[in-house]
Amino acid sequence: MIASRVSDLSPYIPGEQPGKGGGKQYIKLNANENPWPPSPGAVKALRNANPELMGLYPDPDSGRLREAISEMLNRCGGVLSQESAADFPPVTPEMIFCGNGSDEVLSFIFYGFFEGNRPLVLPALTYSFYPVYAGYYDIPLRRVPLRPDFTLDIEAMLNGDSGGMIFANPNAPTGIGLSRAGIRDILDRYPRDRAVVVDEAYVDFGGETVLPLLGEYENLIVVRTFSKSMAFAGMRLGYAVASPGIINTLVTIKNSFNHFPVDNICQLAGAAACGDSDYYRETCSRIIRERDNFSASLRDAEWRVLESQTNFVLAEHPRISGAEVYRKLKEAGILVRHFDIPEISNFVRISIGTGEQMKKLLEIINKLDQKED
Ligand code: PMP
Repeated sequence: MIASRVSDLSPYIPGEQPGKGGGKQYIKLNANENPWPPSPGAVKALRNANPELMGLYPDPDSGRLREAISEMLNRCGGVLSQESAADFPPVTPEMIFCGNGSDEVLSFIFYGFFEGNRPLVLPALTYSFYPVYAGYYDIPLRRVPLRPDFTLDIEAMLNGDSGGMIFANPNAPTGIGLSRAGIRDILDRYPRDRAVVVDEAYVDFGGETVLPLLGEYENLIVVRTFSKSMAFAGMRLGYAVASPGIINTLVTIKNSFNHFPVDNICQLAGAAACGDSDYYRETCSRIIRERDNFSASLRDAEWRVLESQTNFVLAEHPRISGAEVYRKLKEAGILVRHFDIPEISNFVRISIGTGEQMKKLLEIINKLDQKED
């Protein structure tokens, strides 16, 4: 009864989502969710939404939402924590494709731009959903190890055959960002007839966006999400920004799979959120400040902390293993993420919460240390 292809799937494993009902209440710093609420405009749009919208199909092309996204990107220069407007050719609604979370957008990109005849090149350590989609669509991979300092090995990625390239920038789970000049260098040296996908899920926390390069490189696809900086993880909204031709291809794929991936309420709340970029500049800046203070405190306590441009840090205790740190923090009521991957098995990934949450975490971390000594 079950199709044989199902047995070949190896699904993505997300961070734990403990039930909200009974049971232990955790401080949840394991899924890079935003500790601050969505913007006042988004909340108002949700509260005031006409229940009739539940019974009506949404705009399949998310027209108003795409306008609002392009306006937001042009207003903030593509990075919400930044003060200044775009100094690059404006992003237009025709350059935007919206989907049910950026995971779905990524899935459509894998389907539409990578094939089985040549491997897709990607860092060995990056967002772990990419290999899952490659498996789903039977796309061979060339996984290039990071350099010892956890940065991308660009020379090795460019060396050798590939039918396309994908990486997150800033990268996950390292948090390390690559400059726009670095990505321009990749694009200059990469064949123009193959897609280069830059996943900017975390860029609003201080990374450098490659939106300004879109006019120059027709093969560049930028993927973004509302889940992190805009506190929409539970709403599911992501988008791609690329040339209108690429966007049309994604629309064809969407209309061959699910005509209406973004529901009415999500379109309304998403568009309202885009109008509140001042609010998000403030919450992103708070998270950046909190991240930098937290990283400094960990370093004072002799942890190794990778330099992060995201809303999380990847950090290694000087003496206790990653698995053990994870276990002890969970026991103390704080969920962080541990990856059973050799290169980072000694690390934990800690999402940045509110000041209060990080203070509590540091108190527990300091006691952790005392118990060990
Ligand atoms: N890209 C990266 C790098 C991520 O870490 C995540 C979140 N796990 C996503 C994409 C997917 O985000 P969403 O589907 O919530 O938009």
